[in-house]
Amino acid sequence: MSREDTALQVRNESRPDRVHLRDLTLDELQGFVRSYDLPDYRYRQIASWLYDKQVGDFAEMTDLPLALRDRLGQDASVAALHTRTMQISALDGTKKFLFELGDGNLIESVLMRHDRRITFCVSSQVGCPLDCVFCQTGKGVFGRNLTAGEIIDQISALKKTCADDVDKVNVVFMGMGEPMLNLPHVARAIQIMNDPAGFDMGSRRITVSTVGHPRRMRQLADMSLRCSMALSLNATTDSQRGRLMPAVSSYTVTELIDAARYFAEKSGRRVTLEYVLLKGLNTSIADAKRLGKLSRKGPFKINLIPYNAGRDTAYETLSEDEIQEFIRGILPYASSVTVRRSKGPDIDAACGQLWTKSLLSRKKPARAVSPPGDTAL
Ligand code: SAH
Repeated sequence: MSREDTALQVRNESRPDRVHLRDLTLDELQGFVRSYDLPDYRYRQIASWLYDKQVGDFAEMTDLPLALRDRLGQDASVAALHTRTMQISALDGTKKFLFELGDGNLIESVLMRHDRRITFCVSSQVGCPLDCVFCQTGKGVFGRNLTAGEIIDQISALKKTCADDVDKVNVVFMGMGEPMLNLPHVARAIQIMNDPAGFDMGSRRITVSTVGHPRRMRQLADMSLRCSMALSLNATTDSQRGRLMPAVSSYTVTELIDAARYFAEKSGRRVTLEYVLLKGLNTSIADAKRLGKLSRKGPFKINLIPYNAGRDTAYETLSEDEIQEFIRGILPYASSVTVRRSKGPDIDAACGQLWTKSLLSRKKPARAVSPPGDTAL
C-alpha cells in the first residue's frame, strides 16, 4: 500500500492531509511503514511506541533516527485529541477526562477502579443522536461519529495515567454515543484493541454497550472480533421501552433478545442485560418477574444500574431495600443478577454529565461536522 492510499483510506479529522497512525489497523501500519522502504523492525518499534508506551508525539520515539521522525511528522500524526480537563474523585479515585478533538468538539471518558481492576469507559460519538429520557448525553447537541483513532486515543490517554496497572484494563463502550450507530469505526477500533501488536485485549476485556439494533448486533457478531456485548434493555415491555427510549421504539423486546442471543452464541460470551432502575417506571414486581424470564431466553446475565440523577430531578431510583426486593422478584427465574455501584459521584461521572456541563459554559459551539458514518437507525 502506498502512503497516498493509506492517507485516502483514513483521514485525520483535524489535518485531512495527515494519516493518524492510531486510525490504522496493525496491517495497515505495517504497510504504511513499508511504503517508506523501511525494514519491518521499524514497524515494530513504532507499534510499541503507540500501544505499549502511549506516546503523543514523534519526538518521543527516541529509537527512530531524527530525520525519520521529521519525515513521519510531515505525513502522519500520533494524537487526535488532547486533554482539556481531568477531575479525580476524592471519594473513590475515579478519573473523568474531557478531551478536545482536532475540530474543537469535546468528548468525555472515565477511568474507574474496582480493587485490582481498572475500567475505561470510552465514547463512540460526540454526544448522542438518541433521546433516552434518563440519559444526560442525549440532552446536548449531537456532533458526529468518532474515528477509530479517536476511540483508540482515549484508551492511550487513559492508559498513560496508570502505567503500572495496564494489564488489568477493561474497556467499555459506555461513554457518550451509541456504538451501533458508528459500527465501522467501532469495529476498526476493536480490531486494533484485539491485535497482539496493538493493545492485545481479548473479548472479556472489551464490552460494547448498545441500546440495541438487531441487524447491526448480528453484523458485529459476524465480524468475529473479540468483544462482549451489553444490551441496555431498561424495560420489559415494548410500550414501557417506547416511553423510556423513544428513538428506538421500532425494535421489539423480542427482536432485541433474539439478536442478543445470536451474539452470545456466535461469540461464546454471555450477553449482559443492563437495566437502569427508574422508580415507578420499570421497577414493579411484575417487571422483576418479566426481566427474570427474559434473562432465561439465552446465555444472559442481568446488571441492574441504580439511576444516577446528577443534577436532574425528574426521576428517582430505588432505595437499597427496594433494590433488594426487586432482586428477590428476579431471582426465581434468573441465573445471575448484579448491581452496578455508582463511581465518582462528586465529579459528574454519570453518562454525559461533565460534557453537558461544559457545553453550557461554552461561548462558541464546536464547528458542525457531518458524521462520517451512517447514524440513522
Ligand atoms: N448508547 C449505549 C452506551 C452509552 S450509555 C447504551 O445505551 O448502551 C451506557 C449505559 O448507561 C446504558 O446502559 C444506559 O442505559 C446507562 N445510563 C445512561 N444514563 C444513565 C443514568 N443517568 N443513570 C444510570 N445509568 C444510565
